[in-house]
Amino acid sequence: MSQETDYPMLVFGSPSIADDEVAEVVACLRSGWLGTGPRVARFEADFAAYKDLPASRVAAVNSCTAALHVSMIAAGLDPGAEVITTPLTFCATVNAIIHAGLTPVLADVDPVTQCISPAAIEAAITPRTQAILPVHFAGRPCDMDAIMAIADKHALVVIEDCAHAIETEYRGRKAGTFGDFGCFSFYVTKNVVTGEGGMIIGRSEAHIARAKVLALHGMSKDAWHRFGDKGYKHYQVVECGFKYNMMDLQAALGIHQLARVEQNWLRRRAAWSFYQNALADLPITRPAEPQADTRHAYHLYTILIDEDRCGITRDTFLDRMNAARIGTGVHYLSIPEHPYYQQRFGWKPEQWPTARRIGQQTVSLPLSAKLQDDELGRVSTAVRDLIATGG
Ligand SMILES: *Cc1c(COP(=O)(O)O)cnc(C)c1O
Repeated sequence: MSQETDYPMLVFGSPSIADDEVAEVVACLRSGWLGTGPRVARFEADFAAYKDLPASRVAAVNSCTAALHVSMIAAGLDPGAEVITTPLTFCATVNAIIHAGLTPVLADVDPVTQCISPAAIEAAITPRTQAILPVHFAGRPCDMDAIMAIADKHALVVIEDCAHAIETEYRGRKAGTFGDFGCFSFYVTKNVVTGEGGMIIGRSEAHIARAKVLALHGMSKDAWHRFGDKGYKHYQVVECGFKYNMMDLQAALGIHQLARVEQNWLRRRAAWSFYQNALADLPITRPAEPQADTRHAYHLYTILIDEDRCGITRDTFLDRMNAARIGTGVHYLSIPEHPYYQQRFGWKPEQWPTARRIGQQTVSLPLSAKLQDDELGRVSTAVRDLIATGG
């Protein structure tokens, strides 16, 4: 143990930033155009190409939270309508529903995939349900055939939270292209990083056009189209929008991050497989292997620590990993564990027992594309020592 403290801290989710990004940010600064402009347009075009979509069906914003918020407004749902989502997600998923003036309803997850269970969605539908908001958890696609069948049957809007799922595919189709909207995150720990940033993709051009207006004060023209190289143009405010636009400074990072998305994916896939093998004989629960005919984005590698089987509590495990200078994450304490939602909606964690149990047992190990083989070995050795000795 004493020797381990000499190691540098392995920061959880630390991004892999290369010289191309650094040079592009500098070039952006020197260009004098920092705000939404040509680099955002290029990043949108590149992202559209990555998803096999025309550029008119993508809109860059400054976070996935913003993407979810304006998507739900652009979807035109009735005020207070119910939106079914998973209790095993980041709070932003649920907060965006609330900010859009809608009502979140939780449906428990599948214990194996940890994604929202289609049967639980069906059971949660009421006459007030108007949308489903699945989260492709850890980068594993939700059961989209079943979810889209439910949506079709009940005429529901589908908004996919693809914060973990840039590279995800399900039966030959890319995540975010099943629903009416797909919302992506480029937050610092995500698979493509712009610092803060997000992207909306949409099934309809009209919905994306509305989302773009909503993301910039409700204005009919963005700054590049007002002050750019074509001369001043008047704009009109056509609704009360938000300040959610992405900056060229952010897109400068995103352009080069996206160019390396497949390279980084391969590296994370190798790390994910390394952990699967290195931890195979421990009494932990490892993630299920990716399902056939799907592509996992390998955003998170999560293990479950059951105290009875492992001889150590999850929280003690987190403390010991930190003492060994290895950063870990918890994705996530289930949403109804948080006091705000308990007070506002009367939710109790035991109403969604699978998400609750996962939230109490789960640990995310470092999975950055930046990690070297010896660092992966250091992580797996630390896990093995803690599980074998019970801390
Ligand atoms: C990170 C994350 C978000 C929010 O993304 P931001 O870009 O930080 O707003 C939403 N949902 C999930 C599942 C996330 O992991």
